[in-house]
Amino acid sequence: MKVCVLAEVAHHRILPVTYELLTRALALASPGEVGALVVSGGVPEEEYEKLGAAGADEIIAYEAPWLERFRPEPYTAALQAMVAEFRPEIVLGGATSTGRTWLPYAAMKMHTGLTADCTELGIEDGSGLLLQTRPAIGGNIMATIKTPHHRPQMATIRPRSTRPATPQAGRRGRLHRREALSAWQQSGMTELSFTPIDETQELSSAERVVVVGRGIKKPENLGMVRELAQLLGAAVGATREVVDRGWLPYSCQIGLSGRTITPELYVGVGVSGAIQHLAGMQTSKRIVAINTDSEAQIFSLADVGIVGDLLEVVPALNARLRTGGAL
Ligand SMILES: Cc1cc2nc3c(=O)[nH]c(=O)nc-3n(C[C@H](O)[C@H](O)[C@H](O)COP(=O)(O)OP(=O)(O)OC[C@H]3O[C@@H](n4cnc5c(N)ncnc54)[C@H](O)[C@@H]3O)c2cc1C
Repeated sequence: MKVCVLAEVAHHRILPVTYELLTRALALASPGEVGALVVSGGVPEEEYEKLGAAGADEIIAYEAPWLERFRPEPYTAALQAMVAEFRPEIVLGGATSTGRTWLPYAAMKMHTGLTADCTELGIEDGSGLLLQTRPAIGGNIMATIKTPHHRPQMATIRPRSTRPATPQAGRRGRLHRREALSAWQQSGMTELSFTPIDETQELSSAERVVVVGRGIKKPENLGMVRELAQLLGAAVGATREVVDRGWLPYSCQIGLSGRTITPELYVGVGVSGAIQHLAGMQTSKRIVAINTDSEAQIFSLADVGIVGDLLEVVPALNARLRTGGAL
């Protein structure tokens, strides 16, 4: 196995970030060289089949009731057992709260390197080493990092920074069920309480997002943007200018130092399109921008650009949507 992705599971379903990791793995490996590790409290058989159909040639599954919620020690024990048996050259995880906890702990245990929060991956000609690219020095440069001497080479990848791999008819993976040893249950962590996902995670997975920029001018104007989002069934995001002013929480920030989104529809309202913002939304499928400045950078990416005052355009759009019209 050349590349193994670490699946994430919630409510007995394999999460979309796993399929994004598969897209990355398929770009790095040849057919037959991709694996997926699934550590969970149990998932239905069809979830494994879907993973195989999306490109995982080998699926290694550890299931136990006590693995239902992530804890670094037992999950790492499973990862180490998988690495010892299947010897992947590369292990990829999501730069999610789980991945950002699991992989550093696992890298330390396996005495190997880890590049966190990569935006690009590649294979170096000749050496075959994994090239792990991520923003560095406050986002001012992109650094490419290699792990020449230790294995596996490990990286976490920003969620939503690529499209998820889609299942293909007739494609199958081989399922390897392995025993989760009860000794792995020993953990320095004690679970005190469990809080379900918050609305900002909905922003990361939203199909439609309306993003507010500084052009909104004052927080009192947010109401019309919230209404637009509601009428479109969209989540609300923001630029750094907006969150720095305290108009929306930091968890809404889209961009280099915020969240990365890949929605079907992105609507930018009073957003200039600075490079650091584009880094978090440029893979959106359809981009609509509203801005008074016809030279605004966001228009270079937009599928639909509306040059106009948002204080007039947004209420007009809302009125149209309220009466059943399309955007
Ligand atoms: C290291 C670093 C990391 C950063 N990370 C991020 C990040 O993660 N996310 C992020 O967003 N930024 C980030 N930034 C900041 C980024 O450089 C920009 O400053 C920011 O994205 C600009 O936000 P904005 O578009 O809301 O504001 P502005 O650039 O001020 O743009 C406001 C826009 O609104 C338009 N406008 C004004 N009035 C109206 C009106 N009435 N109707 C319609 N349009 C109007 C203007 O023409 C203008 O284009 C980062 C910067 C650095 C240095």
